[in-house]
Amino acid sequence: MEIQQVSRPVVHKVAVIGGGLGGLATAIALRKQGIDAHVYERAKEFRPVGAGLALFANGLNSLDAISPGIVEELKRASSQLNQSFFKKHTGETITQNTATHQEKYGQPTLLFWWWRLQQVLASALPPEAIHLDYRCIGFEQDENGVTAHFDGGKSVRADLLIGADGFNSAVRQTLIGDEEPRYLGSMSWRAVIEYNHELLNPNELILMKGEQKVLFLFDVGGGYRCWTLRALMPKCPVPESAAEIKSSILEKFSNWWEPARGIIEATDPKQILFFPLCDRLPLKSWSQGRVTLLGDAAHPMSPYAGQGANSTFEDAYELAQCLSHSSSIEEALTTYENRRIPRTQAIQARSALGEQRFYGTNIGTEDPEKAARERVAFEEFQSWAYGYDPNSESRLKPWMEISAT
Ligand SMILES: Cc1cc2nc3c(=O)[nH]c(=O)nc-3n(C[C@H](O)[C@H](O)[C@H](O)COP(=O)(O)OP(=O)(O)OC[C@H]3O[C@@H](n4cnc5c(N)ncnc54)[C@H](O)[C@@H]3O)c2cc1C
Repeated sequence: MEIQQVSRPVVHKVAVIGGGLGGLATAIALRKQGIDAHVYERAKEFRPVGAGLALFANGLNSLDAISPGIVEELKRASSQLNQSFFKKHTGETITQNTATHQEKYGQPTLLFWWWRLQQVLASALPPEAIHLDYRCIGFEQDENGVTAHFDGGKSVRADLLIGADGFNSAVRQTLIGDEEPRYLGSMSWRAVIEYNHELLNPNELILMKGEQKVLFLFDVGGGYRCWTLRALMPKCPVPESAAEIKSSILEKFSNWWEPARGIIEATDPKQILFFPLCDRLPLKSWSQGRVTLLGDAAHPMSPYAGQGANSTFEDAYELAQCLSHSSSIEEALTTYENRRIPRTQAIQARSALGEQRFYGTNIGTEDPEKAARERVAFEEFQSWAYGYDPNSESRLKPWMEISAT
């Protein structure tokens, strides 16, 4: 699987579609290799959007390999997890854990407001490499290059096109044209707000479980807190207005711990993001000719294992390495797929399974042996996922191989 070391990248100009986390990280990685990478993003501006997300050792190690030193900057833009609590919906603590990732995996867990992470990545690129208000509507390729087409009749020619345009990727649609996303039977509502409460401490995460729903509350730094509610809903509900969404969430929380209810009450309904949890079945290939996929466009997954962004940063690192150490585009993209598809396939499958089991039992009603077995299995999976080290060959070992040893 190792590729031959050659001195010059096989591409000069690359068009990266999507200025989300994956597209920006990929453009940084490619430019570090001397490739003229440009990001084309449909948004007219980068705005304070998104909710909270966690970066773990595998994502941070990938970003550090892409841009050495960036992790220190990321620490300043986030909150570093040091305590996590598992509570009943009434607030009673079941377990409390001190964070051990720094000792175990060499990196802390960083909790971000999505927008702040996007800002750090965008600021690592020269402004002329980011093109806003470019909504890709398709592409065509020939043996000399690929042309991306955008709304308004704009087009761009490049040696390679990377579809980093997220869950509902237009590039994937043109390349693969596969089926609609698969609804996993649960919904998510989330928001980030500036909020203080004596029981919600900096650098902490609280997971609460109630009747077929879970709530995460965590600090994302700078006085901001994120709440994320996930609830089992076998049928995907019809969209409601922002105010209706907020009042139906509060109804679900009428008997919950006061700080949990309080943060939702304090949220402007327009800030609540609401979406069905979906994925797509893994693909056998992500590339054709001069076009490939990355991140959610390639391997959309449920958020259960928190690997959406983390695995995307691994993609960005590997793709840049393949393009700068191969003798042809074909070889680079084949190696990229060989390195990434087995790993992301395992993460997609584990994430979907976790999502389905998440709401299965309520506190106090679990079979303790079954719960312990599932916890051990998930911990093994986590150490394989977090243990990804860009400087070690062992990162290419697939999950089944590791779990069999
Ligand atoms: C606004 C936003 C907020 C998010 N908030 C969270 C969060 O709070 N927590 C969390 O865990 N995950 C969040 N995610 C998802 C998370 O970023 C991804 O799961 C993960 O990081 C993979 O990144 P990605 O770059 O593949 O996709 P994304 O981060 O989704 O980025 C895709 C980018 O492509 C752009 N795009 C889409 N279609 C086109 C097109 N046709 N032409 C040009 N550009 C296009 C989108 O505007 C977006 O900027 C968010 C994504 C977005 C876009």
